[in-house]
Amino acid sequence: MPTKKSTFPAAGVTTRRRFLEQLGLVGGTSLVMTAMNSWNLMAGQAQGRPELTGKPTKNKVIVLGAGVSGLVTAYELGKLGYDVRVIEARERVGGLNWSVRTGTEHQEIGSTEKQVCNFDEGLYVNVGPWRIPYTHTGVLNYCREVGVPVEVFVNEAENSYFFYEGAQYGAFSGKRLRLREVKGDMLGHINELLVKAVDQDKLDQPMLPEDKDRFVKFLISEGYLDPTSKTYKAIGEDGRQAYDTNQLLKAGIGNRFRSVPLTDGTQAAPIFQPIGGMDQFPKGLARAIGAQKISLGTEVLSVRHDTNGVKVAVMDTKSGKKSELAADFVAVCLPLAIIAKLDISFSPEMMTAVKSVPNSNSAKMGLQMKRRWWEEDDQIFGGHLYSNLPLGEFSYPSTGYFSKKGIILGMYANGPVGTLLDQTPAQRVEHVLANASKVHPQMRTEFENAFGVWWKKVKYSEGGYATGAAHARHDQLSTMEDRLVIGSAAVCPYSEPDWQEGAVAAGWQTVKTLHARAMNA
Ligand SMILES: Cc1cc2nc3c(=O)[nH]c(=O)nc-3n(C[C@H](O)[C@H](O)[C@H](O)COP(=O)(O)OP(=O)(O)OC[C@H]3O[C@@H](n4cnc5c(N)ncnc54)[C@H](O)[C@@H]3O)c2cc1C
Repeated sequence: MPTKKSTFPAAGVTTRRRFLEQLGLVGGTSLVMTAMNSWNLMAGQAQGRPELTGKPTKNKVIVLGAGVSGLVTAYELGKLGYDVRVIEARERVGGLNWSVRTGTEHQEIGSTEKQVCNFDEGLYVNVGPWRIPYTHTGVLNYCREVGVPVEVFVNEAENSYFFYEGAQYGAFSGKRLRLREVKGDMLGHINELLVKAVDQDKLDQPMLPEDKDRFVKFLISEGYLDPTSKTYKAIGEDGRQAYDTNQLLKAGIGNRFRSVPLTDGTQAAPIFQPIGGMDQFPKGLARAIGAQKISLGTEVLSVRHDTNGVKVAVMDTKSGKKSELAADFVAVCLPLAIIAKLDISFSPEMMTAVKSVPNSNSAKMGLQMKRRWWEEDDQIFGGHLYSNLPLGEFSYPSTGYFSKKGIILGMYANGPVGTLLDQTPAQRVEHVLANASKVHPQMRTEFENAFGVWWKKVKYSEGGYATGAAHARHDQLSTMEDRLVIGSAAVCPYSEPDWQEGAVAAGWQTVKTLHARAMNA
């Protein structure tokens, strides 16, 4: 919402010179000139697919778990000529990678209530992974290789809102502010100040007249300044008054912007998603491996190895029938929370490391809306709401633009939100509706149905992704203990088990380790 027009210098607030000092522009080397060198260019991509040769005589491998790490491990081992079989407890591949559609059923650990997804045909929500940064070439190259088409995921829509509550937000508390307007006002005012500093030779770095001219032209263009008066006039609706830049900074809202996106994490742009749901990715890998090599609905009960080989006890989850499988080696691509409770012949040191790594308390909820009010009423196309509401991320779909209905991701949290974990599905829905309708009243009026997943209560996962503590235990966790090696994302060679790229990197590492061991057998 527009507030009182910002003026610099504003009475009792700050002078131009003081503001520039605060920005570190006066009295030192120009920040504008040097900032280009200080962007964090760290990338989290897997290093390179292993190129291995040689055919071991003992080549029978069982891969436990058909999440991304297990599928990558099986796919690469298969290409090397191994006799591979994947054992998966669920009736689907993907593990944390789960796209919920109409008919999906879910009963939480410890609950008698079964959620059934009632989304309309064609609508879905990715309750696990949902975005792939362009730097995640391990994942994206597999998408290309196994025929999974991708589309752009709109990670930042400039027309979306900020909404913060609390005394520290001053006049902005409880108000919707358009991201584009806040960004325009911040850049406009700062550039106006810089132009003035340049014109008055206030920047201590000597500049030739033609440098000054070029710099001023850039600032005018970048900050939407009037070319003649070199002042900023609020962008957005005609007559809108600019937000007070100082207040935006004080509230921390103005600090949200960067001129260039980072190349890693959720800041990386562009970001992609498989067309039709993130689960298209593991489904593509499974197709490439061959359905006959993947046993779904087969729960691993125990894993025991000796000098002759490995025995894996399994149970058919439908019939309850138990059987035993034999292999030369086993890649354990299960969540650490599951390995921690499994009857498995790892050393005590390994089990201590496994048990020392917590996984995230992630939760997501998709809510079907009768109409796409965020597009029709607010002109928001993809992107997120930025708020301090107890919803974590709240996002508008990057699919199905201008169609009739859509699924809002009403909540994505990676830590506990109050007591929601212990509440019923209906209570959680009420929590999301009550909070989200402070920003969008249509959340309640246009709501049809919802489906929520709290990963701590999901069988065969018992939590979200492995946390950073896994990296600290990497040396132990990635050690092959005779015939057994852990291969899930938790053991990836760098600290990103919270990305599928980490699962790919873990798979590659597992293949290398296992192949080296097999060639020595
Ligand atoms: C909420 C959330 C959001 C995320 N967002 C993103 C994102 O946007 N982008 C991204 O790239 N990554 C994201 N991630 C991370 C990504 O999902 C993981 O890094 C990756 O999927 C981990 O794969 P995995 O194979 O190691 O484990 P899992 O997916 O956990 O696979 C383990 C498999 O083992 C099976 N299993 C368990 N117990 C048994 C048993 N007893 N017998 C047989 N099988 C068993 C499970 O069913 C499962 O299929 C997100 C994760 C979460 C939770």
